[in-house]
Amino acid sequence: MERYDVAVIGAGPAGSMAAKKAAKAGAQVVIFEEHPRAGWPVQCAGLLGVRAVEESHLPPGSFLIRPLRGAKVVSPGGHQLAFKAPETKAWVVDRRIFDRALLAEAARAGAEVMMASPVTDLTRSGGRTVLAVGRGPDRRKVEAGVVISAEGAGARIARRAGIGPQREILSSAQAELPIDFDDPDMVEVFLGRDVAPGFFGWAIPASEGVARVGLCCRNNACTYLKRLLKSPPIRSRIRGGPLHLAVGGLPLGPPASTVADGFIAVGDAAGQVKPTSGGGIYPGLVSAKIAGEVAAAAACEGDGSAARLSEYERRWRAALGREIRLGMIVHRLRAGMSDSEMDDLVRHLAGREDLLKIIEEVGDIDRPSRAIRNVGLQMGSSGLRMMGTVLRIFLRGDL
Ligand SMILES: Cc1cc2nc3c(=O)[nH]c(=O)nc-3n(C[C@H](O)[C@H](O)[C@H](O)COP(=O)(O)OP(=O)(O)OC[C@H]3O[C@@H](n4cnc5c(N)ncnc54)[C@H](O)[C@@H]3O)c2cc1C
Repeated sequence: MERYDVAVIGAGPAGSMAAKKAAKAGAQVVIFEEHPRAGWPVQCAGLLGVRAVEESHLPPGSFLIRPLRGAKVVSPGGHQLAFKAPETKAWVVDRRIFDRALLAEAARAGAEVMMASPVTDLTRSGGRTVLAVGRGPDRRKVEAGVVISAEGAGARIARRAGIGPQREILSSAQAELPIDFDDPDMVEVFLGRDVAPGFFGWAIPASEGVARVGLCCRNNACTYLKRLLKSPPIRSRIRGGPLHLAVGGLPLGPPASTVADGFIAVGDAAGQVKPTSGGGIYPGLVSAKIAGEVAAAAACEGDGSAARLSEYERRWRAALGREIRLGMIVHRLRAGMSDSEMDDLVRHLAGREDLLKIIEEVGDIDRPSRAIRNVGLQMGSSGLRMMGTVLRIFLRGDL
């Protein structure tokens, strides 16, 4: 039977980064990807904060399509607020090129890459973790000191290892199509229970004249996407049919534990997604670096116990736990707001130059807690009114 120190399931951003870190730490590493190529199918809007791009450690390259500096938010009743910073706040990226570049880095660091190799089962006995790879006559067994699940939202093997499901899985759909944009430096965000119940819709300018229009919601995202494409803020600007459609699940809220004996879950498989924006690349990369380091050290020490791997749990929660906890509160608050409460909030913020300036200055899509706190503190009497809204949502049982 083949044997590795660390076996990684999934060549998405989290898997490739974990494999690279483990290989650089001196471990013998293999990465299994079920698809024949990395970064495909694309299930992503490709909006990355500047921190996420930095965390990738990739040199600037063709994966960067366009810099963005701000956002326009449209409330259910059509009220608008806009903010735009002087500097780049985020990038629109090509996930196919981004994922391939990360995988190439893992391979350069020494990780063995096995494409078209689905991991189909996991067994553990006598302190050994054995993976079944492939199907039918091609099925073979591989032993690993530590397995890292970077399988994405489905996380089937992580469930087999005893890691609980993410708290919530939202439904998401997106179309890439030719569309006119007033300001291609800004992303557009659409709020409302009829637009995207429980989350929000977006239009993101990508390459010349093409945008990614999509949404996340509790369920039936495709139905809501058809409706969004026919809605007044979008319909009149569409200049051609869809070039690409993407559908996927967006997991929010990590399970109680992300480690088990011989096993670590990272990225979407561990619910490491920002609940405010649905972005999973930044938290996935931050956690994957820790996962790769801890898995390599534990495997080389010959101790893959959950107790040894809990160092990963401690370290990633210290890095991201507070942002994700606050994000879950903001997400539940937004999901519990009525359309008129959203109208009030957008109208209020739009009339407050001081608050928009705070968002422009300290707004950070990857670590939004600072802007949320500073805006909350400056809201004054309307902040008290917002507290009333929070209390109402809490009493309705939505928070
Ligand atoms: C519509 C949509 C839009 C989004 N937009 C954004 C955005 O703009 N910005 C952002 O930061 N995030 C966004 N996200 C979230 C982001 O796409 C994910 O958080 C991110 O891809 C997670 O990375 P990952 O490496 O954990 O998992 P994934 O990228 O899902 O990679 C998992 C990999 O594992 C492979 N795999 C799964 N099971 C197995 C198996 N058993 N054996 C072998 N291989 C396996 C899969 O084929 C896949 O390649 C969006 C998500 C959706 C659905």
